[in-house]
Amino acid sequence: MHEVGLICSLMDQVTESAAQNGITRILSVKLVVGKLTLAQPDFLHFAFANLSPGTIFEGARLEIEERPLVLRCTACGTETRPEYLDYFCPACGERMEIISGDELFIEYYEGDNGEDGSGG
Ligand SMILES: [Zn+2]
Repeated sequence: MHEVGLICSLMDQVTESAAQNGITRILSVKLVVGKLTLAQPDFLHFAFANLSPGTIFEGARLEIEERPLVLRCTACGTETRPEYLDYFCPACGERMEIISGDELFIEYYEGDNGEDGSGG
């Protein structure tokens, strides 16, 4: 299940960034995951739920936005949203480029320093 590896490395990135910003508790994380990454959101949620206890992610909400695979022909501009990667244009046979679908990044995360102060 490669989702575990993906979540591990994403959590590492957030942990590092949070440390630099004085954040000791993560409240929510938003991931953008393209179809081409083959990462299943269900498995990402599962991996996150299993890896977060005992870390700064404990109790955090994981939000996942899936992006479809979108290809565009470099010659005629035809755009397709195929189920699978197909590098050749259905209209003219030229090569397609990937417009969307290979994303895998943290759009944002929210956290705080674990203190209760709500005023000020
Ligand atoms: Zn074309």
